[in-house]
Amino acid sequence: GCGICPKRCPFGAITIINLPTNLESQITHRYSANSFKLHRLPMPRPGNVLGLVGTNGIGKSTALKILSGKLKPNLGRFDNPPDWEDVIKHFRGSELQNYFTKLLEDDLKSIVKPQYVDQIPKAIRGTDRSVKFLMESRNTLGNLDAVLDTLELRHILDRDVSHLSGGELQRFAIGTTCVSKADVYMFDEPSSYLDVKQRLSAARMIRSLLRADDYVIVVEHDLSVLDYLSDFVCVLYGQPAVYGVVTLPYSVREGINIFLDGHIPTENLRFREESLTFRIAEGADELIAEKSRAFRYPKMEKTLGNFHLSIDSGEFSDSEIIVMMGENGTGKTTFCRMLAGALKPDGNQKVPEMKISMKPQTITPKFEGTVRMLFFKKIKAAFLSPQFQTDVVKPLKLDDFIDQEVKNLSGGELQRVAIVLALGIPADIYVIDEPSAYLDSEQRIVASRVIKRFIMHAKKTAFIVEHDFIMATYLADRVIVFDGQPGIDAHANKPESLLTGCNTFLKNLDVTFRRDPTNYRPRINKASSQLDQEQKLSGNYFFLE
Ligand code: ADP
Ligand code: ADP
Ligand code: MG
Ligand code: MG
Repeated sequence: GCGICPKRCPFGAITIINLPTNLESQITHRYSANSFKLHRLPMPRPGNVLGLVGTNGIGKSTALKILSGKLKPNLGRFDNPPDWEDVIKHFRGSELQNYFTKLLEDDLKSIVKPQYVDQIPKAIRGTDRSVKFLMESRNTLGNLDAVLDTLELRHILDRDVSHLSGGELQRFAIGTTCVSKADVYMFDEPSSYLDVKQRLSAARMIRSLLRADDYVIVVEHDLSVLDYLSDFVCVLYGQPAVYGVVTLPYSVREGINIFLDGHIPTENLRFREESLTFRIAEGADELIAEKSRAFRYPKMEKTLGNFHLSIDSGEFSDSEIIVMMGENGTGKTTFCRMLAGALKPDGNQKVPEMKISMKPQTITPKFEGTVRMLFFKKIKAAFLSPQFQTDVVKPLKLDDFIDQEVKNLSGGELQRVAIVLALGIPADIYVIDEPSAYLDSEQRIVASRVIKRFIMHAKKTAFIVEHDFIMATYLADRVIVFDGQPGIDAHANKPESLLTGCNTFLKNLDVTFRRDPTNYRPRINKASSQLDQEQKLSGNYFFLE
């Protein structure tokens, strides 16, 4: 197939109902014959943050590489690349003409926070590889102190970059970008590995880079972070790994709603058959399950090295999802492992013995063989059940890579395999630690729906750790708030309602949320906006209906 399907796409990935007719003349870049094609480009505006949203493999990182000057666009002519003069002519009449002219004349210095932060340590040469030295040597903007404070880097200043955890590396990477003097700042997926508080701090830091004449561009899958960060949003749609099309910039609210809706009203173009909403509309009745069994766990303590966690006793029932919310290092994974029986509490308290299936936070594939072979080995009964296929396997789109070697899967593919494995094992309690990691915004919504339906239909209980606030609030029937001092002395509250739990959690973070009237997604209020002030005054950090 050419990839541009006029109707239902035989690959089944994304359905393009209708496409703009002039796309072929708007190829910005093609890597090689029959490879991915990017159509059009995002249009950055000086003095504004431009957000990019779209599925994995749709060309977001490619667009950043082009706008940063690292990749010279070939306008589709990979065998006979045009020179810069032709490229600039191609963009004549748009703001991009001016942008590329300045970039070529070295009038625009760009800097990119790369998507894959785990590759950073390998790329850093030199003998002093401490966070302190690297941050100081890049500090050309003079805001080092503010950056170290906001991104909480002070306690790791003496550490070698190769010893940093994922979240620390992410904050370091954002930090080195934020202390550099540049005209174009780009952040490719800044929220990966970060908790909600760190995501908000990073967003504030990134916004503080704005001056009247510089550009900030951000690719982000956490929609509430993207919403909070951006002034404008370009949506990328198409068919992953085949082609991507960039829309014009829209206001943040409009752009995100277009992405969710799968429809661009101004072009009368539909790029996804179904719209993604946060209302449990279809089959809502059948989802209101009878809760018939009650369980409880006792008050518990756990000491691991210097870390101490105290857990209030709690109760839960079947057909219920409990979401754990809290900063990194407050013991969420520790509590999950205690529920699963992998860690024993201090003293002689006992977690009631129940059958648990757990998706761990970190997934390291050791299995030799394909995804299908893995499923046959671990979850044969579920995998062969038509109900499980319809409810879980199909919506997560595993068919696309079911016969690939597990070892060669991308992060997002592996995450979906791990979710299916966890749900495929018969259990009373499903513990799912950070399901949204490596998933794009669309996959996050699909995965949340799959998990929610599965738990309600199976009449089981789920404990889920989740930092993406939209996902967390969509999934949660009730929440457990973790507080205290990360890494040192933390505390898990008893399960409480979504409203009171979110209120406590958000009050700690000093942010308020409202609900979008169109698709019910939670939106962060801009700091000190009228709504923000009103809600803080009345103590309603999270919205009522
Ligand atoms: P995103 O950031 O939206 O996930 P990317 O821009 O990284 O997407 O990639 C878009 C598509 O281009 C993917 O299918 C990817 O495999 C392909 N691609 C990226 N870089 C190259 C390259 N250097 N050569 C060939 N194909 C590439
Ligand atoms: P979360 O999932 O909330 O981010 P974790 O439960 O993974 O938190 O970890 C809580 C704290 O306990 C962290 O500071 C972590 O470094 C520490 N920790 C976890 N396991 C051990 C261990 N085996 N020995 C010492 N400290 C540990
Ligand atoms: Mg990318
Ligand atoms: Mg954890």
